[in-house]
Amino acid sequence: MRIIFLGPPGAGKGTQAKMLIDRYGIPQISTGDILRAAVKEGTPMGKKAKEYMDAGKLVPDEVVIGIMQDRLKEPDCSKGFILDGFPRTVAQAEALENMLKEMNMPIDKVLALDVPDEVLLERLTGRRTCKACGQMYHVKFDPPKSGGKCDKCGGELFQRDDDKEETIKNRLSVYHAQTAPLLDFYGKKDMVVKIDGTKAPDEIFKSLINVLERK
Ligand code: AMP
Repeated sequence: MRIIFLGPPGAGKGTQAKMLIDRYGIPQISTGDILRAAVKEGTPMGKKAKEYMDAGKLVPDEVVIGIMQDRLKEPDCSKGFILDGFPRTVAQAEALENMLKEMNMPIDKVLALDVPDEVLLERLTGRRTCKACGQMYHVKFDPPKSGGKCDKCGGELFQRDDDKEETIKNRLSVYHAQTAPLLDFYGKKDMVVKIDGTKAPDEIFKSLINVLERK
């Protein structure tokens, strides 16, 4: 099964992708995670990407397309994959189409999570991540039991640089200008299924399964 998750930042793509991994045993490929790992390691690509990420802008197409070209060749992608956060521009979508055509691995579905901006802003500004294990929390909707520490490992919680309010506003306008046109790009190919992303994660997951397993 090969799936693309579309949707604005904070729509829940990562959360749903992780739930789908457990069900289908296929990898989640998040360009955001790959870029954050490169930033943490301080690689030349990471240093270049950080400036864009901290400003809420998109990392240049050639960088993320290069990342995906390498990642899709990994053996774990042969069973399928879930793309989370890629493609984000029409140029990326076209490059992906060419890559997958060459590999004879067409996309089955484009799942689009629909969430209004004001809900996204509240979700993202309250988001906290564990420095040690990556577990995510929300100060209002899913707070850690023990103050500012991770319930799972006791690690320190932090706010991602790009989850600050100003950056989030930039990320949302970048989404509307550059990524939302993909709804049309894939819509014309009749590949998009829209899902209400304001519901609880379990309910959204049920809707996704219904779509993916509908005969
Ligand atoms: P995410 O975790 O998917 O929200 O990504 C965090 C940040 O990484 C984004 O705000 C961008 O700066 C960068 N990024 C992730 N994926 C892409 C992509 N496909 N194209 C360009 N920039 C990306």
